[in-house]
Amino acid sequence: DLREISITDRVFEGLGDDPDRALLIDGPSGRTVTVAQFVHAVKALAGGLNARGTGQGTMIALMAPNLPEYAIAFHGIAYAGGTVTLINPTYTAHEVQHQLRDSGASLLITIPHFLDTARAAAQDTAVKEIAVIGEAPDDLLSLTDLMGPPQDQQTPVDFRNDVVALPYSSGTTGLPKGVMLTHYNLASNIDQTLATTDTEPGEMTVAFLPFFHIYGLECLLNMVLAAGGGLVTMPRFDLELFLRLSAEHRTRRMYVVPPVMIALAKHPMVDQFDLSAIEQVNSGAAPLGGDVTDTVAARLSCVSTQGYGMTELSPVSHSSPKDRARPGASGLTVANTECRVIDPETGQDVAPGAEGELWVRGPQVMKGYWKNPEATAETLDADGWLHTGDIVRFDEDGFMYVTDRLKELIKYKGFQVAPAELEAALITHPKVADVGVIGVPDDEAGEIPLAFVVPASAAEPPTLGELQDHLDGELSHYKQVRDLRLVPEIPKAASGKILRRVLRQQVASG
Ligand code: ATP
Ligand code: MG
Repeated sequence: DLREISITDRVFEGLGDDPDRALLIDGPSGRTVTVAQFVHAVKALAGGLNARGTGQGTMIALMAPNLPEYAIAFHGIAYAGGTVTLINPTYTAHEVQHQLRDSGASLLITIPHFLDTARAAAQDTAVKEIAVIGEAPDDLLSLTDLMGPPQDQQTPVDFRNDVVALPYSSGTTGLPKGVMLTHYNLASNIDQTLATTDTEPGEMTVAFLPFFHIYGLECLLNMVLAAGGGLVTMPRFDLELFLRLSAEHRTRRMYVVPPVMIALAKHPMVDQFDLSAIEQVNSGAAPLGGDVTDTVAARLSCVSTQGYGMTELSPVSHSSPKDRARPGASGLTVANTECRVIDPETGQDVAPGAEGELWVRGPQVMKGYWKNPEATAETLDADGWLHTGDIVRFDEDGFMYVTDRLKELIKYKGFQVAPAELEAALITHPKVADVGVIGVPDDEAGEIPLAFVVPASAAEPPTLGELQDHLDGELSHYKQVRDLRLVPEIPKAASGKILRRVLRQQVASG
């Protein structure tokens, strides 16, 4: 059931036979792109790019928020046989420049709002041209003058080798790495994940997860369209707009990340909207405790699930079908995927049910890191196993539980403490609005867990003792917070991950 097909042809297959169906709706304005307009624009962009010699084999940077045009630009380039490197538009010019240099992009597509950043970033790079998606709302589809005579077919590509997308990893643990994903990687992952969902033709899903991150690109943009659904795009996250659009479009499924899951569990605004059509809320990208997912399930009368993935896995290796949710689990292994759990000390497979590093092999495993053979060799072994760096265990029914990243484990008096586990327990305290935990050096214990806490009420912040009492009943004695800092917010990546390296810098700088 795995096929050699381009990612764009895979998406086209799912569009159905109603050319006038609303496929992409810009959430804030309501501007709509139909199926016929989408297909025509993709083909015209591909034709235009190839006519000017900037299609097949060209690295093109796309730096834009979620808009209907994002889907057109991505697929226009893919259909032309080019490669898209996806850039976070909220990056500084310096960060954008790093990615432009690293990827070697020669054309940059952006929107008027980010033109200044784009111009500054493009200096001293290989970028020869910056194309701006039209200024007037009605003109957006024109993608400036890149459009040309529509091309009828996918430019021939080597599905297993030609890199269609070069997203960068989130940069949670270090500098973001360019991840080479082929047409085969992306198309396979769609079929692997669709097998566990039941999207209905024409069903609309609200997309605020950024398309420049692999989770938004595949699980929303490509998967929803390939399943015959449509997208309501949001250029930035706004809880009220998200809830309003979800209610208006009677969406059945929400794709979120832990910070939004926490808002869905705790924010009073959630009760003001009719979310009765919601059947499933799925979270991914970072650890999340079962208590939060249970609260959301009860509050929205729906199933609350988690999936696991990483940029290097296109991104999904584990997902939860609606009828087989299990609180706290990150899902079941998707089809055509093999897993091993390896003891980091001995390098051997652990006993069934024990914790260890997750290794994954399957058609969604990246080709490698861009221009970084050393990092590729460290992560992807000769037998095709991707070493994820995440500590997991499986229960007897095959559900996977993610403990934390190998690199983030805190070593307290020889015991291993996972910050994610403490965070999951602390977030359930009523005086805690948000929390991030890191290990800090300690003479006696080696390392101790320090909690950064955003108090729910500034007037009544939690004390260290209160938090310790709260954890006492729930976790083994050695898993305890030993220090507390009250902060106004927890630094997070666009993909919703707690940036623990930023918290560590805050400690280092006093
Ligand atoms: P970098 O590799 O640049 O440091 P990153 O690993 O955060 O950044 P991504 O590819 O966006 O970049 O994220 C993949 C990681 O996200 C996984 O390795 C894992 O640590 C985490 N993750 C994803 N899904 C889950 C989940 N359901 N539960 C816990 N962690 C998850
Ligand atoms: Mg990573």
